[in-house]
Amino acid sequence: MNNIIDGTKASFEIRKNVKELIEREKIQPVLAVIQIGDNKASDVYIKNKKKACEEVGIKFEYIKFNDTISENLVINEIKRLNNDISVNGILVQLPLPNGFDEGKIINEINPVKDVDGLTYQNVGNLVLENDCLVPCTPLGVMELLKRYNVNLSTKNVCLVGRSNLVGKPLIQLLLKENATLSICHSKSRDIKSYTKIADVLIVAAGHPNLITKDMVKEGVVIIDVGINKEGNLLCGDVDYDEVSKKASLITPVPGGVGPMTVACLLKNVVKAYKIQN
Ligand code: NAP
Repeated sequence: MNNIIDGTKASFEIRKNVKELIEREKIQPVLAVIQIGDNKASDVYIKNKKKACEEVGIKFEYIKFNDTISENLVINEIKRLNNDISVNGILVQLPLPNGFDEGKIINEINPVKDVDGLTYQNVGNLVLENDCLVPCTPLGVMELLKRYNVNLSTKNVCLVGRSNLVGKPLIQLLLKENATLSICHSKSRDIKSYTKIADVLIVAAGHPNLITKDMVKEGVVIIDVGINKEGNLLCGDVDYDEVSKKASLITPVPGGVGPMTVACLLKNVVKAYKIQN
């Protein structure tokens, strides 16, 4: 039985569609990415974003600051990008080094250029079900569920993780699809009692092997958002080898949600371009 949700294949299709749209409409969207300080993981993520942008015809502008820069100078740069009509998307790579106020910096981004969907205005619009820019990883999760015909209406969905970046936006997106939700986090007692009754289980906790086969029911759909390093290998939050035997559909790590995040960023840059033009 092939029960693998192939995020790599889906992401290629999205990237191809974005490329074709950019060529067909002869447009030149521009994404500006700001990095503050040095962070090896951020370097890799930015490199991947740059490559993906350039492959589909999105111009990539990279702005790097030392962690000694003042918050005010970062904010001035964001204001410059807000006022530059040739720039359509602005992204501040997270996490920021200690001492920087993430909320203050992110909220300087003009919401129509906020391709990470993290400004108060976009968060509020998501809650109110207004059209807006939505964080890329949750968008990628929803896109996978849609592509694999997982109808969420009337389903019990269990979400493990409630971060601003992944869990919380997913709550809104899942509710919009009429899912019935249970949300678990690090203070939850007896997570198994929630995961065990889930028709769809979405895990974004950042803990390898958090979900084991005794915690899921037969036929469950599993979306594993987690990315953890074990030695030189990447793994998710789910004990894939065992849990995949019980799942009707499951995302692998790598090759599941990860590639969808970058693909959805490209979609968001084009969406931002269209909002502005
Ligand atoms: P985060 O900000 O650290 O949030 C983790 C969430 O999981 C928190 O809500 C936390 O609960 C909860 N949690 C932690 N340990 C738990 C446990 N033992 N049982 C139940 N809940 C637990 O992380 P994040 O940014 O959401 O990312 C989560 C994972 O997804 C990470 O592995 C990250 O690398 C990965 N990720 C992947 C992508 C992708 O593109 N695939 C994108 C973003 C993130 P509290 O709220 O109580 O602390």
